Amino acid sequence: MELMRNRIRPYAWGSRTAIAELLGEPVPSAHPYAELWLGAHPGDPSQIDIDGAPTRLDTAIARDPELHLGAEAAHRFHDRLPFLLKVLAAEQPLSLQAHPSIIQAEQGYDQEDAQGIPLASPDRNYKDRFHKPELICALTPFEALCGFRDPAATVKVLAGLQVPELDHFLSLLSGQPDSDGVRALFSTLVTLPQTRMTQLLSAVLAGAVTAIGRGTPFEAEYRTALSLGERYPEDWGALASLMLNRLTLQPGEALYLPAGNLHAYLSGVGVEIMANSDNVLRGGLTPKHVDVPELVRILDFSAGDREVLTGEVRDGIEVYYQTPAPEFELSRLDLAGADVGAMITLASLGPQILLCTEGAVSVAHNDGSVLDLRRGQSAWIKARDRSVSVWGNGTIYRATVGRPGELTA
Ligand SMILES: [Zn+2]
Repeated sequence: MELMRNRIRPYAWGSRTAIAELLGEPVPSAHPYAELWLGAHPGDPSQIDIDGAPTRLDTAIARDPELHLGAEAAHRFHDRLPFLLKVLAAEQPLSLQAHPSIIQAEQGYDQEDAQGIPLASPDRNYKDRFHKPELICALTPFEALCGFRDPAATVKVLAGLQVPELDHFLSLLSGQPDSDGVRALFSTLVTLPQTRMTQLLSAVLAGAVTAIGRGTPFEAEYRTALSLGERYPEDWGALASLMLNRLTLQPGEALYLPAGNLHAYLSGVGVEIMANSDNVLRGGLTPKHVDVPELVRILDFSAGDREVLTGEVRDGIEVYYQTPAPEFELSRLDLAGADVGAMITLASLGPQILLCTEGAVSVAHNDGSVLDLRRGQSAWIKARDRSVSVWGNGTIYRATVGRPGELTA
């Protein structure tokens, strides 16, 4: 087991306080820190010490996949660490986006290769041939848009604006309040010429202001549209937000985002785990490339409430966030709640990453080594270590490889 040194991604939407505070660095930081990456992604791999030499985790795994990943995971995931763990701190909204299924990613990647679009091109959708299911677990109240809302409810949200310019579009959904109606409305709006969209947006946002003034049950939804419209003027994402579930996760609550789910993180700090892929189709709220036909092709238009995961307690103390993703499993241990001095054994046939998010914890291996993790620090437990014991007064998140299962199309 080794202490990890992790890289920070500065993006404009990040926070100058949350990740810096977690790492014990001075605040505010010079740049907004958006993501802390824990894993072996070649774009920003973590480092560990091997025989005293700082080594990239992806290099270490490539040298001896079975030592680090275990025979089963090495075989199943072709000698790569299948997941990437992050701390994500959003001060501003991230882009509206969805991720492809494995089959869509393979087809899309091969097609873009055949068209000769370079991997580094900003117009390239598919950076690899993998899917990217994601799980976000809130460390602070976390605001998000996730999946299409129940169509009947969306009709009420849009009608509540009392904007005549919307009537025609609304009829697409009220006449067919199901996933086909959602697809029809979405596809129509996203392909509107920009001049019409700009007019429609200004009518909708003015309607939102008036509706909030007279009192409305949809104040949260309308305020979200207004703040998105202010930040991204003329971007249709403000209007799209009114078709999506508007969720607030409390600390410890999580959301699973399967292939095709349209989502946007609005604000908050969380621990995120995902399959090790860069494939994202953007839908708005971004100055970056938006490929509308491809987005519409991969979107899941099924509509309704999205389940907020509160976790399932196993062995008395470990809270698991269960998902169908075979690449990862995330769990949380609040050791402060355990008996003082109690040691918890964490065993796995594959690799484990332990991240301390509160207080301080100690991790011991039966070879006699002990690692003390304070808030913001993390440990790489290679598969050959098999199990470690943890104790202390703090909270850790534990990432492991998911169980073998059918890869979802
Ligand atoms: Zn995403």
